[in-house]
Amino acid sequence: MARLHNLGFPRVGKKRELKFAVESYWAGNITQTQLLAQGETIREENWALQASAGVELLPVGDFAWYDHVLATSLLVGAIPERHRKACGSVDLDTLFRIGRGRAPTGCACAASEMTKWFNTNYHYIVPELSCDQQFQLTWSELFEQVEQAQKLGHQAKAVLVGPVTYLYLAKCAGQEFDKLSLLEKLLPVYQQVLAKLAVQGVEWVQIDEPILTLELTQEYRDALKVSCSALAGQGVKLLLASYFDSVSDYYTDIASYPVEGVHFDCVTVEGVHFDCVTSDVDMLKLDSLLSSAQVLSLGVVDGRNIWRTDLETTYAKVKNIAAKRGDNLWLAPSCSLLHTPVDLEQEQELDNELRAWLAFAKQKGQELALLKATLISHDISALQSYCAPIKARLTSKSVNNLTVQQRVSALMVADGQRNSAFTQRIAKQRAALNLPLLPTTTIGSFAQTHTIRQARRDFKAGKLSTLQYQLQMAAEIRYAVKEQEALDLDVLVHGEAERNDMVEYFGELLEGFAFTQFGWVQSYGTRCVKPPVIWGDVSREKPMTIEWIHYAQSLTDKKMKGMLTGPVTLLFWSFIRDDLDKATIAKQIALALRDEVLDLQNAGIKIIQIDEPAFREGMPLKVSQWQAYLEWAAYAFRVSASGVKDETQIHTHMCYAEFNDIIAAIANMDADVITIETSRSNMELLDAFEGFAYPNDIGPGVYDIHTPNVPDIQWIKTLIHKAARKIPVERLWVNPDCGLKTRGWEETRQALDNMVKAAKELRAELK
Ligand code: GLN
Ligand code: ZN
Repeated sequence: MARLHNLGFPRVGKKRELKFAVESYWAGNITQTQLLAQGETIREENWALQASAGVELLPVGDFAWYDHVLATSLLVGAIPERHRKACGSVDLDTLFRIGRGRAPTGCACAASEMTKWFNTNYHYIVPELSCDQQFQLTWSELFEQVEQAQKLGHQAKAVLVGPVTYLYLAKCAGQEFDKLSLLEKLLPVYQQVLAKLAVQGVEWVQIDEPILTLELTQEYRDALKVSCSALAGQGVKLLLASYFDSVSDYYTDIASYPVEGVHFDCVTVEGVHFDCVTSDVDMLKLDSLLSSAQVLSLGVVDGRNIWRTDLETTYAKVKNIAAKRGDNLWLAPSCSLLHTPVDLEQEQELDNELRAWLAFAKQKGQELALLKATLISHDISALQSYCAPIKARLTSKSVNNLTVQQRVSALMVADGQRNSAFTQRIAKQRAALNLPLLPTTTIGSFAQTHTIRQARRDFKAGKLSTLQYQLQMAAEIRYAVKEQEALDLDVLVHGEAERNDMVEYFGELLEGFAFTQFGWVQSYGTRCVKPPVIWGDVSREKPMTIEWIHYAQSLTDKKMKGMLTGPVTLLFWSFIRDDLDKATIAKQIALALRDEVLDLQNAGIKIIQIDEPAFREGMPLKVSQWQAYLEWAAYAFRVSASGVKDETQIHTHMCYAEFNDIIAAIANMDADVITIETSRSNMELLDAFEGFAYPNDIGPGVYDIHTPNVPDIQWIKTLIHKAARKIPVERLWVNPDCGLKTRGWEETRQALDNMVKAAKELRAELK
């Protein structure tokens, strides 16, 4: 009868034990031996949690100190040249140095780049490969972990990032070359790994090739086939796994791979219409792809979200396949559970109604066990009672807000359009705002100092009254405003002292959002985020920012920017409802924000920034689906922004450098001003403007806030000059490339002083 497995488990631990262990090692508070021991304990607990839930085959190799792609780089000996040279032998500290530039031992050395893992909010360390790259089996940790699992009596299934996905994710160090040319050299190392695992008695190895969910070139398709053939016959059975979307374009390819099993994500299929995430993968079709001797693994539980699975429906879909395939049917979550929190049972403060709709990593294992028990007994009563809350949810009053639903249905094209075209608006705005050429501004936040965070903790712990807390935040705002006045910036911000986080702040004030206590998921390295849960129709009960912004404006004669987080970012940085399509949720949030924007305008605020740093990460994996996404996402943004009169200037902000492919969609958001990250790439980003005439105002970041280095005046002027070659100077703004919350006041003051001076010198020169 069907076997249950996991593709991976959250490695951070129930209470983020891994984070705290690694950070205390970095701080020199524990030794490397102690750290290794703590890692062992965390793995032991993770396996125990899965086993107790009923999962049979347990993943090994999903644990990583920093990131699993980085661990793969160490496994195959892909150590960037500078780290190899500078630091000698390869050990755990090498890994930390590649990940973050430093470690308790050895010299500091520039970290490797980090970027998002497919369309998730998890970041991996980008492998750096040179055209003459050599690979060799280097890091033995995987084998030690296998041994640990076996000693504990578990059935261990080793998990590896597949060689083709690994190459796909890598970047070329030095000159550009065809990364696939390295496959030939990489495969022998993978073969060695498999052979070693075979000697250890490992029966199954899961080869993750999530690139199968992308739209691949023929070269990559061929490479996958070559890779599977090379890895076959090494003494272990191979389970090829893809996840994050459907792979229906490659069914024939997959059917031809010489592997013992294939795992399919059966819950995430982003159709062109962006219907609900739960859609219909034809499991019978998947069944028919594989021979009866092969293992078919169905990912029937959503590995990226936190909702209970509708197991009744799943049961109906898999029961015939299960009867037919017996042991050769495996059931699993859709992908690694890396993207979900560990255990719902820890939550003490959740609304009871909501709790009954949720399942975290451990509960997802229990869901599989319940499904299996039903497949054996065919008594669906337990399933029915498990799924009853899901049915109740459909009509729950906490979820459904008729007013919101009607407002969304009534939305028209015109609601996403400003009254006039940009050229007319900007003329009125220039007259109303009276700003100099090359106006200077910042992105929103100023230093989140220890004092600010302590005040927030005290307030949450009841040690500070609301009034005391508000007075302290007001003092912080006053300080930020005075600093900006002294620096002579043109458009000021209030500094966001009162915001712990740009999503959490709004989530706490909006109806339809809920918060967990321990719902942490790894974002990168030791950094975890606790995304809010969007569980019902979203609405705004009362104004969220007006008092703060109004107060900040009252302190100065300069223009104060209102500061909001946009609908697309609030959506993607939360756990999203699975009973409503994303576009509709985005529209609900957009309408709530639209009211806030209007309130800001009524309060006399003339410039309003709506941040959308997550705009790009919401993009579907398949390029053919981008357009549909970009359209609804830009529409949602415009709905939030378009209620205002022409004179009110709408800004937006995004912080990443890959723009070329979506520049038209960005223009389609029709913000009067966009500020973007460019300084790290020395304005390379603006190459996008070569082929596309971006029509509105733009502030390419001229100060990289990600380092403590203070840019000098000349450097900033060079960057502005570069930008002016692509964009008419009348449409250029001068600003840092992101918010300053992580920067201390001293360095911020110096950097902004140089930035303002650079702008002033250029203005004088241009006259
Ligand atoms: N306004 C936000 C800030 O300055 C924007 C942050 C971001 O882009 N991630 O902090
Ligand atoms: Zn930013």
